[in-house]
Amino acid sequence: MLAHLRSNPSLLKLDLYCKGIQLDDSCLVTDDGGRPILRTRAGLGSGLEAILPGGLWTNVPVTEPFAQHSPYTLHRFTSGTYWIHWQGEPVTEVALSPRPAWYDATLPNGKEMTHIGTLQGTYLGIYQAKVCEYWTAKPEKTNCKFCSVGLNLGVDDADEKSVEEVMTVVRRAREESGITYVDFNTGHYDGDTYLDILEPYILRIKEELGLLVGVQTPPHRDLKRYDGLREMGVNRVSFCFEIFDPKLFREICPGKHEEYGLDYYLEAIRYCAGLASKGPRHEPWVTNGEIIAGLEPPESSIAAIDWITSVGAVPTVCVFRPLVHTDLEDWAPPKTEEMVPVFRRLYEACMERGLPIGCAPNVHVSLVMLPEECAGLSKKRYPWQRLKLEAKKRMFKYAFERRLQTLERRVA
Ligand code: SF4
Repeated sequence: MLAHLRSNPSLLKLDLYCKGIQLDDSCLVTDDGGRPILRTRAGLGSGLEAILPGGLWTNVPVTEPFAQHSPYTLHRFTSGTYWIHWQGEPVTEVALSPRPAWYDATLPNGKEMTHIGTLQGTYLGIYQAKVCEYWTAKPEKTNCKFCSVGLNLGVDDADEKSVEEVMTVVRRAREESGITYVDFNTGHYDGDTYLDILEPYILRIKEELGLLVGVQTPPHRDLKRYDGLREMGVNRVSFCFEIFDPKLFREICPGKHEEYGLDYYLEAIRYCAGLASKGPRHEPWVTNGEIIAGLEPPESSIAAIDWITSVGAVPTVCVFRPLVHTDLEDWAPPKTEEMVPVFRRLYEACMERGLPIGCAPNVHVSLVMLPEECAGLSKKRYPWQRLKLEAKKRMFKYAFERRLQTLERRVA
């Protein structure tokens, strides 16, 4: 096992999600330039932001009780280096994700910048607007059972975020952290107002900074709205249906079930994936279907991956993390050996379908295993497909940099 962990960063990233890590007393993470442990928006992350060998960014569970029994420990040495140990044996040196100066900055009105947005890997994540209304539904809350968003808001996040506030933080994150991508995330609001709320922010970012932008919201009932987002230059839409098994979907995501239903989530994914060949050619477009592995049997997660890729969308697969104070806090995290086939299939299905994975410039994600990061779990090599992806990646990077240069010239 130790030899595999040392030689296979894909396996190490996955195993750390499943088992978490204990911090040795030698660690003073915030004081040494790393990011503090922020409880994060979508209810799936709460840990240590670090960069594993192979450039795999990750968020390792630390604060959940299961992490206290992890065979992994993090150690700091007097040289200032950090090492991950497994059962007392060194596995690898690890870098802590850098803590940018703007993490300590405030806006002119006194709001902390991190209450507007935080880095999740190398992109800026913004949980926009008020708390998801499943958390305030009457007579009973209908929030997704794994979710912590309603627990976090008002603590780590500011409720109202004006366009100016968001633009200030996006600019700082661009200048100081080199972000290329901004991801907006909302919960459910009555009247499907989430796209109306987000569009002014998207337009400003696109017009003034030219960055890649994505939105993760419930599926709007008027699917034509996604044609509008495509025209606007949005680069990613993501729909989190979480669970492919209809019975478990009903039980774990009661709000999503009552409001939209699993079939409508799937319809939205199919529709949006079909927009790839439309809209502005210089703007890449990807549709994600997001699931949480570990909340249903592995074969059901694999069926979800096969369905998502069959319509031309890219699966985003999180590893279930039983966050403290959520309805599922007493559930066990999934076992690594059950997760390996799921994430292997994620990579293989994307490669078999020729989906554009790993092409966005400088986007590393800490909260999930990206499909391309799972290559180490598969014995299949796909040489032609990899060559094509490399070419596509270079093309995207070139087009993105050209666009930024054009914008900079315009501003100058
Ligand atoms: S839709 Fe579910 S996961 Fe998303 S914020 Fe609302 S309760 Fe949380």
